Amino acid sequence: MTERFRAGVALVLCAPSGTGKTTLVRRLAHEFPRFAFSISCTTRSPRPGEVDGRDYLFLSREKFVALREQGHFAEWAEVHGNLYGTPLLAARELLAAGRDLLFDIDVQGAAQLKNTLPQAKFVFLLPPSLAELKARLRGRGSETEESLARRLENAKKELAQASWFDFWIINDDLELAYQELVAVYRAISLAPGARSDFVTLLLQEWSS
Ligand code: ADP
Ligand code: 5GP
Repeated sequence: MTERFRAGVALVLCAPSGTGKTTLVRRLAHEFPRFAFSISCTTRSPRPGEVDGRDYLFLSREKFVALREQGHFAEWAEVHGNLYGTPLLAARELLAAGRDLLFDIDVQGAAQLKNTLPQAKFVFLLPPSLAELKARLRGRGSETEESLARRLENAKKELAQASWFDFWIINDDLELAYQELVAVYRAISLAPGARSDFVTLLLQEWSS
């Protein structure tokens, strides 16, 4: 059945920091241009190379809190000492326009999104081992030993939440993990909910 008969799907990816989420999400969005990123708001400072409005909307804490109080966010959370939130309206508008949406958010936020965006599907990306997770975080070169320890502590708490997710993907071999992610994407695109009114329209052909 062709892609044009389908509504936008929402795919939420969670993973302990350093597992490989950014790597996989970038490749998926590149291969499937129907995907749009949900651009989050954050109070953390931009990293070198990050662009305001593309990677995040970088806000002061005051502005973030004001928006939060106005109900601007579908979910929000404090991660590693900074606030992050998903703008609700932008997500709804993109889905209504038929775009698929990728959410790169933390586990606390994902649990809230389960209520505010009930059609979303949730993937938990797992590292193959603690040693490998440490190696990836160190290899990325963006962490001090203190922030590394904080991320590993947080990872333990996040892993304890993995059971309610719809899918688990172990990112050991990158290529295999990517193919599994594509399989999940294809599967959720085939669910009747993503086909919206197709059968209704088809049946109308019998009576016209
Ligand atoms: P996250 O977004 O989850 O914090 P990244 O995508 O930044 O993680 O990946 C962390 C580091 O691990 C990067 O240097 C990336 O190239 C590397 N990496 C990702 N997946 C794999 C894999 N399957 N095997 C080895 N290294 C990987
Ligand atoms: P980073 O600062 O490394 O870009 O992201 C740190 C963590 O914040 C990641 O786990 C990322 O998924 C999460 N994050 C990014 N945007 C959001 C968001 O809008 N909401 C929530 N809850 N978490 C987010």
